Amino acid sequence: MTKIKRTISAILLVTFLVSSSILAQTRIVAPKNPYKIADDVKLGQEASNEAENKLPLIKDRQLGDYLVRVGERLVDAIPPEYQHSEFRFSFKLVDAKEINAFALPGGFTYVNRGLIEVAKTEGELAGVMAHEISHVALRHGTAQAAKAQKYAIGATAGQILGAIVGGGLGSVIAGGSQLGIGAYFLKFSREYETQADLLGAQIMAQAGYDPRDLGNMFRTIEKESKGKSGPEFLSSHPNPSNRYEAINREAQLLKIRNSDQNNQEFSRMQARLGGLPVNTVNTRSENANSGNANSGNTGTGSRPTTGKNPITSRAPGSRVALPSPRYKTYSDNSFQLQIPENWRELKDQNSITFAPEGAYGQVSQRFVFTHGVLVGAARINQDSNLRQATEDFIRGLQEGNPNLRQQGQYQRTSLANHKAFVAYFTNISDVTGRTENVAIYTLRLNNGDLFYLIPVTPQSEASSYQRAFQRILSSIEISD
Ligand SMILES: [Zn+2]
Repeated sequence: MTKIKRTISAILLVTFLVSSSILAQTRIVAPKNPYKIADDVKLGQEASNEAENKLPLIKDRQLGDYLVRVGERLVDAIPPEYQHSEFRFSFKLVDAKEINAFALPGGFTYVNRGLIEVAKTEGELAGVMAHEISHVALRHGTAQAAKAQKYAIGATAGQILGAIVGGGLGSVIAGGSQLGIGAYFLKFSREYETQADLLGAQIMAQAGYDPRDLGNMFRTIEKESKGKSGPEFLSSHPNPSNRYEAINREAQLLKIRNSDQNNQEFSRMQARLGGLPVNTVNTRSENANSGNANSGNTGTGSRPTTGKNPITSRAPGSRVALPSPRYKTYSDNSFQLQIPENWRELKDQNSITFAPEGAYGQVSQRFVFTHGVLVGAARINQDSNLRQATEDFIRGLQEGNPNLRQQGQYQRTSLANHKAFVAYFTNISDVTGRTENVAIYTLRLNNGDLFYLIPVTPQSEASSYQRAFQRILSSIEISD
């Protein structure tokens, strides 16, 4: 009885809050976060060092100063409760044509040239930046990390990023993004995206921009990227037009302060950017030749082919050869297994993917694969049992991959002479748009880490891969 009463008053309370919010801008509450603000900065700094090793930056002084001016105008407009003196906002221009921007915890913000090129006004550019700044202000990166990995306070970026494969599972499962920093900090839940949209709109109004420009930018992006594999700020939303409407609703509640939109300067900067040579090393041209329907937004220009990382290859989703009936042995310090002779190993910082040619590549700055096996270890709440750790791990994956759906119950199994769990999932591939089968095997290593092995194939081809997966699973040996 008491319980019911309490529920009813809770409902009344919620209703009251909702109706009162009609009168004022939406109040945004940052998610719970056990990290210190200094941790955000430290982790973001480490990730940004890594990013800058790999991203081609545009060092033009005028463009750089301009971006910083727009960025700082927005940062000054962050509501006082989300201003933290520890934050270290910086704004850098990346020489990549993809329409994208991202911000790392602590404020390290990157804007692709492609974003400035398609924006129609400074307000549209500022809109995306305000959205990214809002993720920083609300500390979404570390809040998300904490959700997936409860123990990790004080861990290094590498450990945290390795904690789960990264929300970048996206199309299939990303072994981390091309940055090696995992889509972890970059791909957020829908709830976080909505928060960043609303706070972004509020920041814009406070900074003297029209918040509707953020909504307009979604339309522009949608048109340019034809709604598939969009950039970070489209990533978690199947329906960007909802966001457009939500932002416009919010905009009606907001008063734009000292409106000042210098589009002359913006046009000058756009022209200046147009005069700079484009970083030509990217996978786009390869994709354009592949005849793949997805090629328009596959691939990324943001990483030069340095040879440090072998992942360039063809567009994922192009024709993939069946697993060779002959096998070779892969082994490193921690484990060994047999893989079909025509598969490659693609190492990331915290995981390794075994996949055939044509089955892996970059989509929206993320490493993805459509056929193959991902193997890695994650540090997940070491006090929990295997079942709980597996559930935490999978929840972390689902956080960034709303289409990853479990089919049936967890099953006990054995892998490499360890007690293990397996669970089966379906997912919708970002690359092909088709259903894929995903199995997730987990076991505990002696050091407490969670070892995972994840076979993936398009559902329609699953039977052709059964034998190869069996062979891989039965061959695996772990030295722990
Ligand atoms: Zn976002």
